[in-house]
Amino acid sequence: MGWERVLDWPFGKGMHTAERFAKYWVAVGFAALLVCPFVVSPIACLAGKAWAGQSGNVGELSVSALHVTATDARVIADADATSFAIDLSGDVTAEVFTLANPYRVIVDLPNLSFEMKPAGTQKARGLISAFRYGLFAERKARVVIDTTGPVRIVRADMTRAKSGSGVTLKIDLEPMDAVAFGAGTGARRSAPSVAENQTAVADDKGRKPRDESRPTIVIDPGHGGIDPGAVGADNVAEKTIVLSVGRHLKSAIENLKNFDVLLTRDSDVFVSLSKRLQFSHEHSADLFISLHADAIEERHFAGNIRGATVYTLSERASDAQARLIADKENASDLIAGLEMHDAPGDDQVQSILIDLLKRETANFSNEFSRVLAGQLAKSIEMSRAPQRSAAFKVLKQPHAPSVLVELGYISNPDDQDKMTTEIWQKKTAGAIAAAVQSYFSKRLADRP
Ligand SMILES: [Zn+2]
Repeated sequence: MGWERVLDWPFGKGMHTAERFAKYWVAVGFAALLVCPFVVSPIACLAGKAWAGQSGNVGELSVSALHVTATDARVIADADATSFAIDLSGDVTAEVFTLANPYRVIVDLPNLSFEMKPAGTQKARGLISAFRYGLFAERKARVVIDTTGPVRIVRADMTRAKSGSGVTLKIDLEPMDAVAFGAGTGARRSAPSVAENQTAVADDKGRKPRDESRPTIVIDPGHGGIDPGAVGADNVAEKTIVLSVGRHLKSAIENLKNFDVLLTRDSDVFVSLSKRLQFSHEHSADLFISLHADAIEERHFAGNIRGATVYTLSERASDAQARLIADKENASDLIAGLEMHDAPGDDQVQSILIDLLKRETANFSNEFSRVLAGQLAKSIEMSRAPQRSAAFKVLKQPHAPSVLVELGYISNPDDQDKMTTEIWQKKTAGAIAAAVQSYFSKRLADRP
């Protein structure tokens, strides 16, 4: 039984709200027991009892979890304490826990819509350096709160608004030392991320048989949901631009008639890097194209740095900037609040087989990168070194030639203005589709 199931059980649909709230606290206590057994759980459990004692006061709260929206979120900090508060239009069950490496507080909520200020505009305050929110999975919303160091959840309190049916979830945090934090979090091994981290391995179980005459192209719009990717000057998110280009690219390649085309995501939802790899493996991709866009933090350089770059996989980065970009893109799972475990695909037993496959795949990846950079240069602005390489996790695919395209810099005002237009997105998709056509025509012609 995963801990999620443990938390699910007390919340029967017909249950009286006051009872649900009381049990919410018991559940938070239970979660806290797993997360931080020495400090939080007694407080949360006591709070649960306190709620049960006051059940007459909370009976009017809405019990409907349907159509709940999050309307505002804020950080409240003074010299001694930091709190995070989120306003919800109705009553829901929340799970709150902490993670290390880096230190974060995760708030899991049922599927709800966010009608708040765009992510990335909130200022750091107190123990909180940043926070973001969005869909984490099909029916799960998540808020990830980055903290400046290890923190203890002193209290997670759900209160009713003075008027209407809204509620506010307020989480009080205080600093703690890393040793005590480690003692509390190390025990939790049954987190949902264990299944999430099942990475693609070299066995062929469950794979679609390959049809050489009809290649499968997997298009991978980066980021999504809780992970916005880079955020431009006007709060344009990378995840939005790459999804639009991905959809245009799917139509453009489908119009060529000779390919099966699949998207790793077709909505604003988070997909972990390992799920993307698994998807490509299961569908026996003949080519994998990951779409991204970058932004640089230094404003005074933003005007000068622009253009598209095509990346392929290499353990050693081609240059310092390529390494920096790979680090940023590889952080997607961390941003979404996934725990990191050693991937089973890194297993030594598989490594020889993978190495043999890799050499051939790497040659194909480099060939496609060359064709793609050439086609893109005919249509859009390119960076100064448009073909580079670095250790991108999403490109670690022994079977499928794969590239990652940084389509441009949304920190550059000119790039950003263009990249949000349908004209630019279609033109870019057309250029990538032309590269796909040209690459496979040559590959089929070269076949003995
Ligand atoms: Zn990206």
